[in-house]
Amino acid sequence: MYHCRACGEELFRSTEKFASHCGWPSFFSPLAGDKVIEREDRSHGMVRTEVLCANCGSHLGHVFAGEGYDTPTDLRYCINSISMTLEEKEI
Ligand SMILES: [Zn+2]
Repeated sequence: MYHCRACGEELFRSTEKFASHCGWPSFFSPLAGDKVIEREDRSHGMVRTEVLCANCGSHLGHVFAGEGYDTPTDLRYCINSISMTLEEKEI
């Protein structure tokens, strides 16, 4: 289970984690849709979708769609590992 580093909210499970080889933890789905806020981010001259913690508003990373990964959603939540803490627990 991955928690928001700022507020401790549960955000992602390792069962939705997959290997994207981008170097950051990547998930094809958040724990629940209302756990995160998705917001358009036009910084750095690009249009991306920013992912924020719905509970405290911390920046988590970005979500990318349609990259062709072999996942159920074809979404890639590319989350900055410094934004989350990993808790080992039985699911
Ligand atoms: Zn938070």
